[in-house]
Amino acid sequence: MRALTRLVALCFFACVLPLRAELPVKICSFSTVLSEVASRVGGEAVQVYAHVKPGSDPHDFEPRPSDLKRVAEAELVLLSAKHMEGYVGKLREASGGRARFLEVGAQLPTLWLRAEGAEGKAPKQEDPHWWHSVENTQKAVKVVRDALGELRPQQREVFQKNAAAYGAELGELQKWARQRIAELSRDKRKLVTSHDALQYFAKEYGFTVHPVEGLTPSEQPASRQVAELLTTIKNQRVKAVFSEDTVNPKVLKQITAETGAVMGGQLWVDGLGTGEAATYAGMFKHNVNTIVEALK
Ligand SMILES: [Zn+2]
Repeated sequence: MRALTRLVALCFFACVLPLRAELPVKICSFSTVLSEVASRVGGEAVQVYAHVKPGSDPHDFEPRPSDLKRVAEAELVLLSAKHMEGYVGKLREASGGRARFLEVGAQLPTLWLRAEGAEGKAPKQEDPHWWHSVENTQKAVKVVRDALGELRPQQREVFQKNAAAYGAELGELQKWARQRIAELSRDKRKLVTSHDALQYFAKEYGFTVHPVEGLTPSEQPASRQVAELLTTIKNQRVKAVFSEDTVNPKVLKQITAETGAVMGGQLWVDGLGTGEAATYAGMFKHNVNTIVEALK
């Protein structure tokens, strides 16, 4: 019996532990941006499942039983956080403590939404769209790198190398964005968009944002809000307004009809998009180019 116990123990330490160390980290990602970050930093040492798909609305996402099943088998769960994933409780329950939950946005600085309720007294809400600041995304890369390093210490060097290469690309993207936006004088840096999603972008590159709606694309603006916005657009001589990937641009069309501002094009505000916007750099460049071209 003792021999058998020994054999089992020996097999566990000799076979199972090294096996786990060599297996790719099973990652469930609920952010299109973090899916890319995890794939780039983890390389072959990770297996990323993207639950929220590029081009879809993350505000409306609800995990299905098949999503929960994957979470139950995951080692790492990646979340945008800042209240983007209202369903996080369900994920934790499905995981039963087996996965590490990395709320990446919680480790980044917060901007607050100014969205007002019907009474004008809506509770203060965190703006969850942190990835519209390249600097935030660079920080997110480090957060993911460190978490992977803790889960697979023997692969730490690989993660560091991958994160450094990806971080350098993001540095180039940031340099490019600053140069491109410098083509716009400060007084032209005004954004009118369908929902309040570009504050991090605005702060980083010196824009003022006038959102038509509040936090999510599904909120309908009050007529008083629209009237105020029309006045602002006229007074500030805003040249263009922008539609979004995941929202009906009806109200924006009404605005262009009444103010003379033009439709500046579509922006990818809720994460990665499709086509040329299917990568983080592609999405960011598309947004910057669309904004600069329309407001120039
Ligand atoms: Zn959004």
